[in-house]
Amino acid sequence: MSESKDKRIKKLKKNRIWPFILGMFVIVLIFACMVLALVGASVEDVVKRKVLNGLRQAEQIAESFKDYDSEDKNTEETILNYLDMALETNSVWVTDLENEKIWASSDMSPKVDKAQFINFGDNNPVNLIIEDDSEKLLTIEHIGKEILTADTVLKILDSKGNDNETIAVIKVWFIQEVDDLTVYVLQDINIYAYDCFMLLVSLILFGVMIAAFILYYISSFVDIIVNARRTSKVIYTDITTGGKNWLYFVKKGNRILKRKTYINNYAVIHLKMRKYRSFCTCFGVKEGEILVEKMHHVLKKQIKRGELMVFKENATYALLLAYENEEQLKERIEDITNKLNMLLYNMKLYFAVGIYKVNKKETDIEQLYNNAVLACDMLGEEAETQVIFFDVEMNNRRIWERKVENDMYSALTNHEFQVYLQPKISTSKEELAGAEALVRWIHPREGFIPPNMFIPIFERNGFILKLDDYMLEEIAKQQSEWIKQGRKVVPISVNVSRAHFAKEDLAEHICSIVDKYQVPHEVIELELTESAFFDDKQVLLETVRKLRESGFIVSMDDFGAGYSSLNSLKEMKLDVLKLDADFFRGAEAQDRGLLIVSEVIDLAKKLNMKIVAEGIESREQVDFLTEQECDLIQGYFFAKPMPIREFEEKYND
Ligand code: C2E
Ligand code: CA
Ligand code: CA
Repeated sequence: MSESKDKRIKKLKKNRIWPFILGMFVIVLIFACMVLALVGASVEDVVKRKVLNGLRQAEQIAESFKDYDSEDKNTEETILNYLDMALETNSVWVTDLENEKIWASSDMSPKVDKAQFINFGDNNPVNLIIEDDSEKLLTIEHIGKEILTADTVLKILDSKGNDNETIAVIKVWFIQEVDDLTVYVLQDINIYAYDCFMLLVSLILFGVMIAAFILYYISSFVDIIVNARRTSKVIYTDITTGGKNWLYFVKKGNRILKRKTYINNYAVIHLKMRKYRSFCTCFGVKEGEILVEKMHHVLKKQIKRGELMVFKENATYALLLAYENEEQLKERIEDITNKLNMLLYNMKLYFAVGIYKVNKKETDIEQLYNNAVLACDMLGEEAETQVIFFDVEMNNRRIWERKVENDMYSALTNHEFQVYLQPKISTSKEELAGAEALVRWIHPREGFIPPNMFIPIFERNGFILKLDDYMLEEIAKQQSEWIKQGRKVVPISVNVSRAHFAKEDLAEHICSIVDKYQVPHEVIELELTESAFFDDKQVLLETVRKLRESGFIVSMDDFGAGYSSLNSLKEMKLDVLKLDADFFRGAEAQDRGLLIVSEVIDLAKKLNMKIVAEGIESREQVDFLTEQECDLIQGYFFAKPMPIREFEEKYND
């Protein structure tokens, strides 16, 4: 898959979850800060209020020391009584102007050096010492913050706001000047749970808010996950079949192949229904889609765990199948195509199947599938089900094909295609009686290229039409030149590829090329292959009739190779029958083959046809054919195809 495509899919599937989570944290943080500030302020308020209460009590006690007389036991008793009543006062310490202790209710003494003035906002600062274990100089604000610990909060929550439970105690010495004395009054400032009512309310509110937010975020989170799954489903679903699509095949397939632990062998398969377009033309696109869907269901049933199958396009399917050995895989494919074949009662379906056997190190399923397609492309358009395995040679062939396709147009304009002529020799006098024009490609970089390396490619891509026209024109030009020079001319044949017969005006087209050079049609022979008989027979018969009527010699090439049918001979009047070289090669050349040759010659004679035997390499073959009254012989025994100049020198003088 291309990188940009991959990126686009990732973008589609992306869950913007991180900004979401971050947002959640920021909001919770802001709330927490707000609550802390509120709570902090409320605790500080509480502490200040309490300290002022304590101050009032301390002032009353200090009042008792007005006109203090150390000798007067009554005064002391009054003070002690007073102290007993004042529950929150722990101790009193009195000093004179020199800071000498004059009186004390207990051993507890203030740390005088830590005395500090605290302003409560009324410009009347209070002088006090905060009793604390630590050496730091605590202020009220500090105390407010120190009280606010997790422990305190728990205590407050536990008290539920209606309990008298003390949650913190601050010990403060209030310093009062009375006459010449300094009176230090130690007070316990108790902070009760109910003092922190505001704090509690804030905490509860905070809790509710957090809970609401968490709920909101959980529901949004679930929504995102659900949406992400839905997007994934849309991305990986094929709308024609409702099954998974090619993207899924690539993603999952790569994952399966990367799992090094798989035990089975895997094969990537390209399965294509033949003639799907014709099916749609006959029955309609809708019927075509229904068939595709049905095929998908059949295939789905054949797929096991760890295997994949998706619809690709135009009745083609991509499969990833596990297999034990090649034989078993072939059987399985056969079984699958048989099952597909049962889909239509009145019609047989044909399939082309390309298989690529995956090596354990290969993981790029797209590339592997390409190989399966490449193998499948090697199969022709035969009307039968065929299965083909990929081999490395196919890849080289594909590369070559690209090269040929790239260069063919410039080759035609640059006259890189050259005409070679191969003589046809008469058996009666063993002299030149004709020739066949055969093309050679003299490539500027590749050098000499024989026709079997590019003709099949041109036949597939249609360029053969241009090449054959070019050859015909070259021959017409050459014949006219020789005629003008007064040389002896023999009929020269050109090959007319099967593709031409799709044109209804082929005969007119050929005439127009030849007539440009005013060449009598009798010196041009047209070789048709038998395979042309499988296309539109009516057009073929009509074309052949017109060509013969206008004087061209028409021959049937390669008779006996592939689909020999004597029927085609009966149906169509032709001038020449060219016996394929296969008759005279290998096992065919044995008695049975030769018997067939003599029978075919016999039949052709009865049909008034001339016989040319191709691929003749030995004297025995020549003698045999002469004996059978074969008319002409074309083969290496007499001559190989040669450039026109060489042909001219040898035969036309
Ligand atoms: P074909 O039309 O059957 O041509 C005969 C082929 O047999 C030629 O191969 C020729 O060189 C070869 N041949 C002739 N005598 C012998 C022999 O004694 N022994 C052996 N082993 N071979 C012999 P070539 O030239 O390689 O052409 C191959 C095929 O390419 C042709 O088969 C024809 O189908 C196609 N072809 C060549 N030129 C053209 C063209 O201009 N147009 C079209 N459409 N096809 C062409
Ligand atoms: Ca030929
Ligand atoms: Ca031939």
